[in-house]
Amino acid sequence: MPSVQGRNLPHRTRQIGDPPICHPERNHKALGLCNACHHKALDAKIPLADRRRRDRDKARRLRAAKPEQYRATRKAWVQANREHVAAEQRAWRIAHPGARLNAYAAYAARKYGLPVLKISNQKLDALVQQACYRCGIEPAKGIDHLIPFSAGGLHVLENVRPCCLDCNRKKNDLLAVAS
Ligand SMILES: [Zn+2]
Ligand SMILES: [Zn+2]
Repeated sequence: MPSVQGRNLPHRTRQIGDPPICHPERNHKALGLCNACHHKALDAKIPLADRRRRDRDKARRLRAAKPEQYRATRKAWVQANREHVAAEQRAWRIAHPGARLNAYAAYAARKYGLPVLKISNQKLDALVQQACYRCGIEPAKGIDHLIPFSAGGLHVLENVRPCCLDCNRKKNDLLAVAS
């Protein structure tokens, strides 16, 4: 398929009856581009952020109006873009550690028969950016529960501090020796 620059749309020079310039197997507009390529060329003129917002809004409307169709479309898209989706999920998990920390806290709370509590993902995301409360390394990238789950500590904001992995391990080792 020839690359289509938004600025040089073929209709400026094309004559009616000229052969199609992209996917000859598809139906063509008079301009010589199939529907998909035609819209792609038009899309390229819209700033990326605006395009994303438009697509998101469109998906949201579809999900509200026709949930079945939304699920089918979404599933087909995910299947056709597996690597892209996996890369996005990896990036999201790295940028949003709060979700993982909440999941771990829920697991630990259940293990010790404590109430399963949640701190907002956003608050945890911000917290792990702060300096480790033990060694000062920044960003701490993790949290520590001041009173550990094993001692009945709860997963509430007052009981968590930003803490790096090394300090967390050292503290756990001390606790293991003490108990
Ligand atoms: Zn085409
Ligand atoms: Zn530390």
